Amino acid sequence: MKAVAVNGLSKSGKTTVCETLISGLRRRGYRVGSVKEIHFEGFAIDPDPTTNTRRHRAAGADPVTARGLYETDVLYGSKLPMEEILRHYDHDFVILEGVSDCNVLSIITAHTVEEVEQHLSERAAAISGVVANLQLKEAYGLPVFNVLHDPESLVDFVEERAFEPLPSFDPECCSACGHTCPELAGLIVRGKASRKDCVLWAQEVELYVDGAAVPMVPFVQKILKNAVLGVARELRGFRAGKRIEVRLRS
Ligand code: SF4
Repeated sequence: MKAVAVNGLSKSGKTTVCETLISGLRRRGYRVGSVKEIHFEGFAIDPDPTTNTRRHRAAGADPVTARGLYETDVLYGSKLPMEEILRHYDHDFVILEGVSDCNVLSIITAHTVEEVEQHLSERAAAISGVVANLQLKEAYGLPVFNVLHDPESLVDFVEERAFEPLPSFDPECCSACGHTCPELAGLIVRGKASRKDCVLWAQEVELYVDGAAVPMVPFVQKILKNAVLGVARELRGFRAGKRIEVRLRS
């Protein structure tokens, strides 16, 4: 699953760029999901404390699911980390509007060239939004896309350049690729590294909790592998070189 972030100030064209990408990728046959970061502090989809769903939450349920005839809303009582949110997606692409804490290719939207600078990061790959009306081809070394006049060019760009989100490990937990996670994301964006340079790309040991994969740095994979092999080798039926599965029921 590939992901792209679209970042910029309010009314700089973020949502228009997201709509362009979502509809363009859908037309090309991809399954597309999205995440919208809401910066309004008082935001809540279910704010009335007297609704039945809020009463479920007050009684301790988390998450609470509201299932209607035409819509299903799963409501968590806290702000989830992006990695956890993305585990709920099994799409070809996920478009992240206003999300800045995810190690993915990023598109900056802005009103002016100067404003672009506020959002420049190592993961920035392109510029779009209101500033594209100035008919620039490039700014800060990044291509500028006008999605109102030529939406397909940005869809082409994302289809070709987006990559699967990198993890967000603290450098003390993992720097096995020789970089921090955001640094490797920046190198991938600039074409100087590959997504496969993250050592977690092909994990030798995989751990799933409730069906969701949990990334493990090589050191933790090794501990888990040695522990399981140490026990399994002593058991009748063990055969070297075969796949081992362990299932725990809590
Ligand atoms: S190997 Fe992967 S998880 Fe480790 S620092 Fe590099 S990008 Fe992050």
